[in-house]
Amino acid sequence: MLNVLRKIVQEVNAAKDLKTALGIIVLRVKEAMGSHVCSVYLLDPDTNRFVLMATEGLNKRSIGKVSMAPNEGLVGLVGTREEPLNLENASDHPRYRYFAETGEERYASFLGAPIIHHRRVMGVLVIQQKENRQFDEGEEAFLVTMSAQLAGVIAHAEATGSIRGLGRQGKGIQEARFVGVPGAPGAAVGTAVVVLPPADLEVVPDKPIKDIEAEVERFKAALEGVRQDMRELSSKLASQLRKEERALFDVYLMMLDDASIGLEVKRVIRTGQWAQGALRQVVMEHVKRFELMDDHYLRERASDVRDIGRRLLAYLQEERKQNLVYDDNTILVSEELSPAMLGEVPQGKLVGLVSVQGSGNSHVAILARAMGIPTVMGVVDLPYSKVDGIQLIVDGYHGEVFTNPSEILRRQYAEVVEEERQLTQGLDALRALPCETLDGHRMPLWVNTGLLADVVRAQERGAEGVGLYRSEVPFMNGQRFPSEKEQLAIYREQLAAFHPLPVTMRTLDIGGDKALSYFPIKESNPFLGWRGIRVTLDHPEIFLVQARAMLKASEGLNNLRILLPMISGIHELEEALHLIHRAWGEVRDEGTDVPLPPVGVMIEIPAAVYQTRDLARQVDFLSVGSNDLTQYLLAVDRNNPRVADLYDYLHPAVLQALQHVVRDAHAEGKPVSICGEMAGDPSAAVLLLAMGFDSLSMNATNLPKVKWLLRQISLSKAKELLTQLMTIDNPQVIHSTLHLALRNLGLGRVINPAASVQS
Ligand code: PEP
Ligand code: MG
Repeated sequence: MLNVLRKIVQEVNAAKDLKTALGIIVLRVKEAMGSHVCSVYLLDPDTNRFVLMATEGLNKRSIGKVSMAPNEGLVGLVGTREEPLNLENASDHPRYRYFAETGEERYASFLGAPIIHHRRVMGVLVIQQKENRQFDEGEEAFLVTMSAQLAGVIAHAEATGSIRGLGRQGKGIQEARFVGVPGAPGAAVGTAVVVLPPADLEVVPDKPIKDIEAEVERFKAALEGVRQDMRELSSKLASQLRKEERALFDVYLMMLDDASIGLEVKRVIRTGQWAQGALRQVVMEHVKRFELMDDHYLRERASDVRDIGRRLLAYLQEERKQNLVYDDNTILVSEELSPAMLGEVPQGKLVGLVSVQGSGNSHVAILARAMGIPTVMGVVDLPYSKVDGIQLIVDGYHGEVFTNPSEILRRQYAEVVEEERQLTQGLDALRALPCETLDGHRMPLWVNTGLLADVVRAQERGAEGVGLYRSEVPFMNGQRFPSEKEQLAIYREQLAAFHPLPVTMRTLDIGGDKALSYFPIKESNPFLGWRGIRVTLDHPEIFLVQARAMLKASEGLNNLRILLPMISGIHELEEALHLIHRAWGEVRDEGTDVPLPPVGVMIEIPAAVYQTRDLARQVDFLSVGSNDLTQYLLAVDRNNPRVADLYDYLHPAVLQALQHVVRDAHAEGKPVSICGEMAGDPSAAVLLLAMGFDSLSMNATNLPKVKWLLRQISLSKAKELLTQLMTIDNPQVIHSTLHLALRNLGLGRVINPAASVQS
């Protein structure tokens, strides 16, 4: 059964549009289940009716005509109950409704399963049989499994359809909305530029071309490049491989031959498709054919074809890279955005970011917030390879992307962009003013840095120090670990730029979703694996070099503070402190006269929350990493869009943990800061103020908003609000109560400037 299921899903996945996909579904499911009828009804969101979209067995003329409201018929019942319905004799059921045009009176038994995607009922999959009979458990399970698998495929095909429907010439433009999660606040209107990860054939977009001959030549050059590589590889391995094994290279060369893939790709290019698109089409067709074969050996050949495709694509992309044209209002779209991709856009041209993978707490989103670029993450249903060159709106407040937006929507969002610009400009005046509440309480606002550009931005916005310098960022750019000398120069720049303000440098925090290309860590559970201090304690040579570089860089400046990430217990802290003392001794022996800097611990693992007092006793300060603390307390992967709506730093458990940390840190007489993204959320900052945090560290972009809000409220009012919210057990209610309270105080303008568009 699993095999049948896999084949159907594969075939449906390759369908060119929704109609074809649904046609395949009904045909194949009917065959697989040996039923007399199989039909798909989809819920039309405009009319809120289940419409018959495809059928095998019923009268095809009723397709698109027969429909029922959720409170009508058996299909409506399956859709509203969100449960399968298995009836021996459908007409006996009180909800049975007869549609003469379908000719369904001939069918007695009925089995329906809801099609649900991300909690949204999309439709109902039905099979029917002439004779009175109860479908058995196995059949019911098959249909349920089928519809669960198809839900994603249908959502994808539906989305692709709505994008393809546009016609670039402006005919039949359809606006479509895709929901993801907020990555970085702000709105942007611009043109999509799809960036591909290196040589990922399956996601190559379609693209029309004009100069067909030039494109064919480009492809020929790629063919020749791969042929050459194959010959070289074959002769290089001549001494290591047996003759039969080397035959593989001959097979590859044959596939590249003019009579095979090479010829087919050229044929598609001649229809006006660019080389990469033509290659994807041909290779994927071959792959699909091989994968559907029952013979194991032949099925395996699919991976050879894929490999050939990737190699050719790599050649073609090298050229494309230089040709990538960035519009003045570029919205970068990618399956999985990487910091390197952001870096390639010429300055001033990047207005928005969209990533299919990842969530608001992925590091690329943190980077985007630091750069102030509106971003939507985890737009899992966006057929992103199809959007290159079309107009997009990115709503980073709500986590939504609109393709082909109407003129009205574009205008509305352009207004939001302008309002946001004015708000930021207006807040510039706050730069020199202290962050002080109405009743005179001072709250130091610090910044998180990593990129060089952060320094200028932080200074422009009036930061009072650096609460978190992510030292792994410069490690991510190179091809090897930076030397002590190289690190010293980078750290010195950072310390000098903020001097005499304090700079809190976190020791290397790699692992999780922060990979170094030259130090790969492959784990099935990376966020629970070898991360942060665990890596550097296992590699004291890395830790010591970094600590020495930091200490030396602070000579004469003395504004360094060292922060230790991912501490889960006292033993780790003691080991790290020991290494810091050793590095300090070494640099002093070498003649660098620096005092031992204050050392702090990040509280970002639940175990550390309960050991706050023990940890605090041994260090000079604490800093809460609410990004990881939220992920670990709630057991919600900060990178996974499927569970992004469960990730919530206003969850009562997180709020209670934060209160606990502040109370215990202060009981030991130690200051406590918070450097997770929560500190940069103006409304959450009100609660952190009330809890008694001694400073807040955030991205420079949000600092003025937080300052503005904290200057408009009194500490006593904030405490009152916190007390009220701590009695609420539901995160959603906490959000709405907090936002409402701030709006009622007339402080809503920094919470969500795009609210008017959505209302
Ligand atoms: C955190 O976890 O809150 C934090 C500040 O560290 P990072 O986001 O770099 O993991
Ligand atoms: Mg962290």
